[in-house]
Amino acid sequence: GLKVRKVGDREFRIDADASRGMKVPVSIYANDSLISKMVTDRTIDQAANVATLPGVRKHVVVLPDGHEGYGFPVGGVAATDVEEGVISPGGVGYDINCGVRLLRTNLTESDVRPRLKDLVNDLFKSIPSGVGSEGAVRLSKSELDELLVEGVGWAVRHGYGTSHDAEVCEESGTMKGADPGSVSDTARKRGAPQLGSLGSGNHFLELQKVDRIFDERAAKAMGIEKEGQLTVLVHCGSRGFGHQICTDYLRVSESALRKYSISLPDRELACVPNNSKEGESYRKAMFSALNFAWANRQMITHWTRKTFERFFGMSEDGLKMDLVYDVSHNIAKVERHRIDGEGTRDVVVHRKGATRAFPSGMEQVPGKYRDLGQPVIIPGSMGTASWILLGGKNSLDLSFGSTAHGAGRTMSRSAAKRSYTPEGVRGNLESRGIYLKALTKDGMVEETPEAYKDVDAVADVSDSLGIATKVVRLVPIGVIKG
Ligand code: 5GP
Ligand code: MN
Ligand code: MN
Repeated sequence: GLKVRKVGDREFRIDADASRGMKVPVSIYANDSLISKMVTDRTIDQAANVATLPGVRKHVVVLPDGHEGYGFPVGGVAATDVEEGVISPGGVGYDINCGVRLLRTNLTESDVRPRLKDLVNDLFKSIPSGVGSEGAVRLSKSELDELLVEGVGWAVRHGYGTSHDAEVCEESGTMKGADPGSVSDTARKRGAPQLGSLGSGNHFLELQKVDRIFDERAAKAMGIEKEGQLTVLVHCGSRGFGHQICTDYLRVSESALRKYSISLPDRELACVPNNSKEGESYRKAMFSALNFAWANRQMITHWTRKTFERFFGMSEDGLKMDLVYDVSHNIAKVERHRIDGEGTRDVVVHRKGATRAFPSGMEQVPGKYRDLGQPVIIPGSMGTASWILLGGKNSLDLSFGSTAHGAGRTMSRSAAKRSYTPEGVRGNLESRGIYLKALTKDGMVEETPEAYKDVDAVADVSDSLGIATKVVRLVPIGVIKG
């Protein structure tokens, strides 16, 4: 079996084991309780498998929210050499550019509390949600192609937001190098009708209040001034569009394994050389899905703002629902990183259920945050907390500039369904002052707060290692589940 060594207060390591084909070690950032859970499923084995991939560099990282996923663990980072390494659809995941964005407002809890249910129900009606649900926009093929190339830029150009919105997205909400020519018709057919919708299950729109501010200077830069202030958190991705692209290119990768003499400990790690023609195609399609997801979150943002304006009879300026930041947590792209003994190298950083957390000073951090660090948004659950952190000074050394993306599941969907009832979940939330509007009963029980790990512990680990430091703790008051 694999030996997990404790090497620091919140740091564990699996040494590179050549007999297992591991080329690099695995670094795990967790406290004792979080690691004790990780060793009960396939998280650790999967991370060790990833460490065998051709061209993998430095180490494979498991973040405090790590849990098992398709081939690669969720809550993991792997960097592969651009020349000698591979790119893997499973290392990004099915929901390409699933991510979260946070809006600040001028409102406080006391402004919404008396009309909370009406507001949540109104948002639920105004924002398309669940599986197969139809978005509110229909685009022609050439319009969709433009959107796939431009992402948030397309949405802003069509009146769904402002240039400030674009500035505070990772990659400014537009991944350069997308090419819809690499996207299948099946992906278009599945994705196009879902554009502008939240998606099911774990995707949500949440009204939250500021519970506690830990870093006043950073919070202020984010437009967060006081406890009780209302914020809105949106979690969604590229819907069936990205899912189909992942499916398509997993198939492509599996059939090209032999051609490129790639042998794998687990077929779910299917990958192709990064600079092969299959690798190029996957990248161009995956980047198209990144842009789809960014445009999607931007449209939802627009409808959220319009709903608030109508509901409260307030102006845009009065509400000031500025975007704080938008992070992607399922993505792969080339970045330059320092690799021990090799200086700096261009690597394909696969973040699967992981959030970029770049420190201050880096050009990728938008101007308004550059002196502070990149904002990081970590959702917890609909009954606990969520966190805003700031990319910390140790993130580049420890985790390729990355941190956790959530609390992480501790209970499978099916186990949650066996143990909880919709009425029980709703009652539990209501007793804590949280109003839930969900499309399906399954969605409610599968997402019960008990199905997730302790998000405060996840934030603690990140903060104490200097990977990403605490700025604001948020708690939910109203939740829409797709
Ligand atoms: P994933 O992208 O892996 O599906 O989910 C990311 C994280 O979102 C999960 O690990 C979980 O901690 C968090 N999460 C799931 N449902 C909710 C919710 O309703 N509200 C909040 N704030 N977080 C949630
Ligand atoms: Mn998702
Ligand atoms: Mn997600």
